[in-house]
Amino acid sequence: MATIIDGKKVSADIEQQTVAGVARLTERGVTPGLAVVLVGEDPASQSYVGMKERDCERIGIRSFDHRLPAETPQEELNELIDRLNADPDVHGILVQLPLPVGFDTEAVIARISPEKDVDGFHPFNLGQLVRGLPAHRACTPYGVMKMLESYSIDPAGKHAVVVGRSTIVGKPMALLLLNANATVTVCHSRTRDLPAVCRQADILVAAVGRAKMITSEYVKPGAVVIDVGINRTDAGLVGDVDYDDVLPLASAITPVPGGVGPMTRAILMANTVAAAEAITKTE
Ligand code: NDP
Repeated sequence: MATIIDGKKVSADIEQQTVAGVARLTERGVTPGLAVVLVGEDPASQSYVGMKERDCERIGIRSFDHRLPAETPQEELNELIDRLNADPDVHGILVQLPLPVGFDTEAVIARISPEKDVDGFHPFNLGQLVRGLPAHRACTPYGVMKMLESYSIDPAGKHAVVVGRSTIVGKPMALLLLNANATVTVCHSRTRDLPAVCRQADILVAAVGRAKMITSEYVKPGAVVIDVGINRTDAGLVGDVDYDDVLPLASAITPVPGGVGPMTRAILMANTVAAAEAITKTE
């Protein structure tokens, strides 16, 4: 019988640690602050930003809400980032992605001060990850690592297969697993015979964005299956993994919803508090 990896429980544990971090900062007279920048009116992005702001409120992080119309010139967004970089009350900056068409997303990410880049997407932070050095880690893949740790699943020596190679999920996921001494294979849309490659996995991470694509044909008996996917379908929210089909084979599996999703938000809050601790350490 597969262990169901409970993202709600693990994220609640992480939140407790974050709340303790907020208390430590408060003792020093510091209130951690997260600036959330939303450009345009994409409904999914609006909903994500709303959830993050509610998380901040619950945990004791001050959130600074910046909403800009989709037609905002890039220069204006750049100036806002510059102001937030210089603002001592802001310890974390999150620009909700995707930005509307026409924006240079890479330039925006690179403009955020690396120490305030709580999403972990800045080239400096990704470079630190490549080097195995401390930095802000991308929230979703770092959340997956925390889930594995919480269930005593040690990637060392295991074959991890990551399906997806985005900068937000797939690549940092592969690097985190590699840094944890897994043997890592990264798959993408040009991978040949994907099911056969996936069947080699002791730990299979699906970050594809295709509803229920990973069926039992892709899973070795006893594998740990981590479903990062969030797909809105007529039947509701589903992952990239066909949960019911894969469940009898897996030794452990994350559900959708209630798996990786809550972890991403919990890590964002933890990264913000870590940023506030690092930035104010010498004050
Ligand atoms: P992207 O669209 O940026 O990347 C998808 C990746 O999957 C690409 O590398 C693509 O390959 C690969 N891919 C697409 N189709 C196939 C296929 N048929 N076979 C093999 N590989 C394929 O998505 P993201 O990485 O941003 O997100 C992935 C999923 O995770 C989405 O469902 C997203 O909603 C979800 N997500 C969930 C989060 C959470 O908090 N739980 C946070 C972030 C994302 P190629 O590079 O060749 O195009």
